[in-house]
Amino acid sequence: MSDHRIVCCEQTGCSTSGHIVAVGIGSDPKKAKKRMTVREVWTAMDDGDRFYTADADGNTAWVKKLWCGCGKGSLKSEPDRTTANNLDNLRLCSWSAS
Ligand SMILES: [Zn+2]
Repeated sequence: MSDHRIVCCEQTGCSTSGHIVAVGIGSDPKKAKKRMTVREVWTAMDDGDRFYTADADGNTAWVKKLWCGCGKGSLKSEPDRTTANNLDNLRLCSWSAS
C-alpha cells in the first residue's frame, strides 16, 4: 500500500466533458515518472493504494473512482477542496516531450 501523486492526465473527448483515460504518476509536477491507465489505477486502489493531487501551495485532494456517463471508468478528485488541485486543472500529459 502506498500513496501516489498524480501530476498530469490524459483525457478523451467523450460526451460533454472528457473523461480521464490515463494519468502520470510522480513527485515532480513537471515530469511524470510513470504512466498508468485508469484500469491500472482502479486495480491499485483495490489493492489499497491511494492517489492524490497537489497544487503549488501544497493543498492535496484524494482521487476516487468515477463512472463516466459514457459507461467507462474514470477518475475524480474529491470536490470538497480548493479547485487548484482538482484533476480537471492538472496539465495534460506530454509523454513525447518528457
Ligand atoms: Zn466518458
